[in-house]
Parts: sequence; structure tokens; C-alpha cells
Amino acid sequence: MVTKSLGIIGGGQLGMMLAEAAKKMPDYISGVTVLDPTPKCPASIAGAKQIIADFKDKNSIVELSLQSDIITYEIESGDSKVLESLHGEVSINPSPTTLRIIQDKYLQKQFLRQNNIPVAEFDIIESLEDLEKKITKFQYPALLKARRDAYDGRGNFKIENHSQVETAYQQFTGRQTMIEKFVDFKMEVSVIAARNIHGEIATYPLVENIHKNNILEVTIAPARVDSKISLEADKIAKKTMDVLHGAGVFGIEMFVTKDDKVLINEIAPRVHNSGHHTLQSSETSQFEQHLRAILGLPLGSTRLKHTTVMCNILGPKDFVGKYKPITLEQKDGVYLKMYHKEEAKPQRKLGHFNVVDEQDTKDVDALLEKTRKIKNSIK
Ligand code: ATP
Ligand code: MG
Ligand code: MG
Repeated sequence: MVTKSLGIIGGGQLGMMLAEAAKKMPDYISGVTVLDPTPKCPASIAGAKQIIADFKDKNSIVELSLQSDIITYEIESGDSKVLESLHGEVSINPSPTTLRIIQDKYLQKQFLRQNNIPVAEFDIIESLEDLEKKITKFQYPALLKARRDAYDGRGNFKIENHSQVETAYQQFTGRQTMIEKFVDFKMEVSVIAARNIHGEIATYPLVENIHKNNILEVTIAPARVDSKISLEADKIAKKTMDVLHGAGVFGIEMFVTKDDKVLINEIAPRVHNSGHHTLQSSETSQFEQHLRAILGLPLGSTRLKHTTVMCNILGPKDFVGKYKPITLEQKDGVYLKMYHKEEAKPQRKLGHFNVVDEQDTKDVDALLEKTRKIKNSIK
């Protein structure tokens, strides 16, 4: 069997868990190299070789491509133009064209709307005057979003009334923006979906996401919704994978509105934080699934074996520096995963734990209570 060397743009926790999954597939993957600017990045600690450079550094992307048979990403901020220029010399999945569409929230939403996939109303913003004019149609509150390089809600400004319009616009000076209708959602959910290079598609069951300060705090698998909603979300996710043509795992974030409609919020062209529960809850983890997809192997089963709650461990506020190792007694269905980051920063993702319903009680409230107690114990 011919093994392949894998290159990953980004070597954070997602790259680390991909590298760990790759290690378990020695028949297919000979080694992993990551491109990441932070020395001793999490993926390198998991045994990957590291090129220390910016995600957008052209020479380093080329160097990564020379060392790799397949290139993939764990973040969406690689330079899609450089990657597009390499396509053909090395296999890159998801394709740089898919990446380019997803990297720009406006192009992404346009693409979805053109394919009749439901999204909140949105429009491009070209100037302050344009925003002043368009916001009257969208009404308050509305979201002004930076089109590129946004995460953890830092590229979003919720405009509550007319007096905030100018402040919002100035917040994103020098960046292209778009406006979006505020969705008064009753729940945030997501589907982890995979498509392999031969076009086979598989989706994981719908999960429920609870955010705090725009950062994911807890994922509940499966989501506490009617089957009608989970079927609708699954249909939307499959259709998205069908039209997007990308290979790999994608995290599709959605809103469930108060009148039970499902809208896509955004797509991540990579493994996703809301899929970390799959490490213990599912027959195939999202990390193995991503590798299977880009290697062209048949996709693994996405069956959820156990109801599971995933909880992120974030850096405490008001603290920057080395943190004392977090330990947890890993018994009774509790599984801790730390990311080996050198330094804690407020809100930085340092690790997560899964609380797995191995006794099959299906008592989500009890799982959430157990999660809350564990979280408080590690503060
Ligand atoms: P991520 O870290 O997930 O990449 P991001 O910076 O790309 O985040 P979004 O996912 O667009 O930002 O938004 C962050 C959060 O803000 C969403 O999870 C949701 O809670 C809220 N949000 C975004 N868009 C809307 C909207 N149109 N209406 C209501 N809430 C929204
Ligand atoms: Mg995003
Ligand atoms: Mg998001």
C-alpha cells in the first residue's frame, strides 16, 4: 500500500487531534507536517513536524507542499490564492476554490443563497452612506460583519440603534463588511458533515451549541429538538455538501428560529469544535473522518453511540502565562483532552472534556449538571 504524507495549514488543537488520528492510520499516512507561527504548537507536541511561519507565508506554503502528498487545513486563514496556484502539483482538500468562497462571509452567503440554501437576509456594505441607507431596510438590531478573518464573534458588531451606525462602521476601518439581519434564534445547532473525494457524503447527528461571549462553551449531542428540525438541518447540510464540492469534514453552524426554521449561519471548511464529542461518542471521530475523506477512503459510520456533553476549557480572564496542569479523574464517562498550549490567555481554548452517557440514561439534565460541577472544580 502506498502511504501519503500529510501537510496541515495550522497546528493548533484541531491540527493536534488530526495528527493523533493520522498516527492511528499508519497504512495510509506516513507522517504529518504542520505550518504554524507559534513554536511548539499543539500539533508538534503530538509528533507532527512543524514549519514555523505565518499561515499566509507564500514560501512556507510552497515548502509545505513539497513535503506533502496531500494538503489540508485546520484553520481557514491560509492564503487561498497561493494554494490555488499550487493546485495540480499537490492534492489540496478542501479545494482552494471552496476555501476562497468560505473565507469571505459575503461570498459564502451569496453562494448559499444562489443554491437556495436558507440564510438570514444579508447585503454587501460599500461605504458608511451605503450602511446608513441599507440599515433602514434591515432594521435594528442588525449585524455588521467583517467579511474575512473573523472568529469568536470578533468580526461582528450588533447595531442596536441609529446612534451606533458610525461607531460600528469605524470598528472595521480598512476591512470589507456586510450587513446581516439579526436572527432571534431559539437555539444554535450544527452538523458535522463529510464528503470524500469520490463524492460520498455522511453527516453526524445534529448537535446543540451553547455560546458564552460568542465562544462555544457547551455542545450537547444530540440536539434537544424535534425530529422534524433535525431532519431539516440534515437535509440542508447534505445539500450544502452536494453543491460545495469540497472534500473533507465541514462544520455547518445553523440557527433554529423561534418559528422552527433552520438557517445556516456559517460554514467552517474543517473539523469543528462542536464535533469534539465524536472522540468518544461516535463510531468514527470527526478527525478520522476528515482523513478518510481526503484520502478517498470510504467514510466511517457517524452513528452516535452515547448521548454526550462537550465542554470547552478556556483561559481564565485576567490571566496570561503558564497555567498549572489541569487534571481530572477520568472515570464514569468523563474524558479530558488538554491541548498542551504553552500559555493561557483570557478565553483561549486550552482543552475540553466530554461527559459521556455510557450507562445510556439519556438524562441530559443530569449530564449537564455533572458538566457544570466538573467545570467549577477546575476553575
Ligand atoms: P466562529 O468563532 O464561530 O468562527 P465568527 O467570528 O465567525 O465565529 P459568527 O459565527 O458569524 O462569528 O457569529 C458568532 C456568534 O454571533 C454566533 O454563534 C451567534 O451566536 C451570533 N450571531 C452571528 N450572526 C448572527 C445573526 N445574524 N443573528 C443573531 N446572532 C448572530
Ligand atoms: Mg467563523
Ligand atoms: Mg461561528
